Amino acid sequence: MFRRILVANRGEIAVRIIRCCRELGIESVAVYSTADKDALHVQLATKAVCIGPAKSSDSYLNTKNILAAALQTNCDAIHPGFGFLSENAHFARLCEECGLIFIGPDYKTIEMMGDKSKAVALMRANNVPVVPGSNGAIEDVHEAQKLAQKIGYPVLIKAAMGGGGRGMRRVYEDKDFAQAFMAAKMEAEACFGDGTVYLEKLIINPKHIEFQILADKFGHTIHLGERDCSVQRRNQKLIEESPCKILSPELREKMGADAIKAAKAAGYYSAGTIEFVVDRDNNYYFIEMNTRIQVEHTVTEMLSGIDLIRQQILIACGLPLNIKQEDVQLKGWAIECRINAENPKEDFRPSPGKINFLHFPAGNGVRVDSALYNGYEIPPFYDSMLAKIIVHAPTRLDAIRKMRRALEELVISGVETTANLNYLIMHHKDFVRGIYDTGFLDKNLEKILSWENRY
Ligand code: ADP
Repeated sequence: MFRRILVANRGEIAVRIIRCCRELGIESVAVYSTADKDALHVQLATKAVCIGPAKSSDSYLNTKNILAAALQTNCDAIHPGFGFLSENAHFARLCEECGLIFIGPDYKTIEMMGDKSKAVALMRANNVPVVPGSNGAIEDVHEAQKLAQKIGYPVLIKAAMGGGGRGMRRVYEDKDFAQAFMAAKMEAEACFGDGTVYLEKLIINPKHIEFQILADKFGHTIHLGERDCSVQRRNQKLIEESPCKILSPELREKMGADAIKAAKAAGYYSAGTIEFVVDRDNNYYFIEMNTRIQVEHTVTEMLSGIDLIRQQILIACGLPLNIKQEDVQLKGWAIECRINAENPKEDFRPSPGKINFLHFPAGNGVRVDSALYNGYEIPPFYDSMLAKIIVHAPTRLDAIRKMRRALEELVISGVETTANLNYLIMHHKDFVRGIYDTGFLDKNLEKILSWENRY
C-alpha cells in the first residue's frame, strides 16, 4: 500500500482525496499556489508545498514543480483529481519516469482517448454505437462538406482535443458549412493548440447518459450504472442524477455492456466514464470517454456504497478489484446540485469574494462536498464551483423533496451563487416529472429565473 500520496489539485476534489487518504491510513501532501495559502486542502493534508504563483499555468499546471514536490516529500503516487493535469498524458508519463505512480489509467490510454476523433474511431471498430459522422479526423473542407451532405444536416463540428463544453460548432445549412469548418479549425487551434476536427450528426436535444466504470490492471472491468447529466448550460453540467428515469432495465443492461466493451477496447484501468447521447427513439451513441474521476462521481457513490476514490487508489496500487458485477447493488435515487459562485441573472458571471457566513445542510441522506469555510476568501483565478450538494433517498420524488429542503437550509452569503437556480429547477414540472433533455435549461432558463425567489 502507498505510504504517501501527493494531491495535484485544489478545492473540494483535493479535500475529497485527502479525506480518503486519511481513512486509508495514507499520508497526503497538498500542493498550493500563493493565492491558495489559506485553502482548506492545505490545512487538512499531512503536509503542504507551495508550487507557484496564482496563475494555474504557473502552479497547478506546473508539472516540474509538482513532480519536484512529490519527490522531495517522498511520495509514492500522485492523484490528479479532475481538470488541471488529470487528462494530461505527458504528465502521467513523467510521473512514471520519476518512479511515481499516477493514480489513473496508463498514459497511452489517456493519450488515445484524449483525441476524441481517435476514441470514436476505436469505438466504431469495436462495434460500440457511435454518432454517424467522420471516421476519425477530417482535414479537407470539401471532403468534410460532402460527408455533411451525406449524413444530413444539422451536423456538429467537434475539436478532437476539445473539452469542458468547448470546441463544438453546429451547422444547420449546407451554405454555412465551409465557413463554419474553417472557423472551427481556427478556434480549435487557438483554444487547444491543435486544429484537428471531426464531424458528427447533431442529435437534437438528446439525453446525456454516462456509465461509471471501474477496472483493475488485470482486465477485470465492471460498471456501476448510469448518471443522467442532461441538465446542462452551454454543454456544461449543472445537475446530475442516478438512475436515469427513462432507461428501461433492458436498455440499461445493453448500454452497460457496451460501456464495459468500450473500456476494454481502450485497455482501461482505474475509474472512468463512458459518455453517451441518447435520442428520442432510445438510440444511444458513444461520444467520449473521461479518463479520470468526475465531479459527479458522488452520485454513484451514494447509490452503490462504493468509494470510488478509494477504489482508484487500490487499483493504482496494483490490487485486484474485489467487486464483481453481480455484487453491485444500486439502491434508491441520488441527485447532485453544483453550487457555483456565479450570478445566473447576469449571464452566470463569476462572483468571487469573501464568505461572510456559511451554513451547510446536513441530516439523513444529505452529503456536502466542499472546500468552503466561514470567512474564506474565494480567489478569482480558478473554477467557480463552491460545493456539491448530494442527496440520497428511496425514490426520485423523495430525493427531489430532500434536495429542496437541503437547499432551503443552505446559506452562502457574500457571493452570488447558483443555489437558488437549482432550487427553482427542483420545482419545474418537467424536471419533477423526469422529462428533460440537454435542451431543457436553455429553453426554460429565462422563465425559471423570472420566478419569485422562494427562499
Ligand atoms: P465535453 O468534453 O466538452 O464535455 P462532449 O463530447 O462530452 O464534450 O459533449 C458535451 C455535450 O455536448 C454533451 O453532453 C451533449 O449535450 C452535447 N453533444 C455532444 N455530441 C453531440 C451530438 N453529436 N449531438 C448532440 N449533442 C451532442
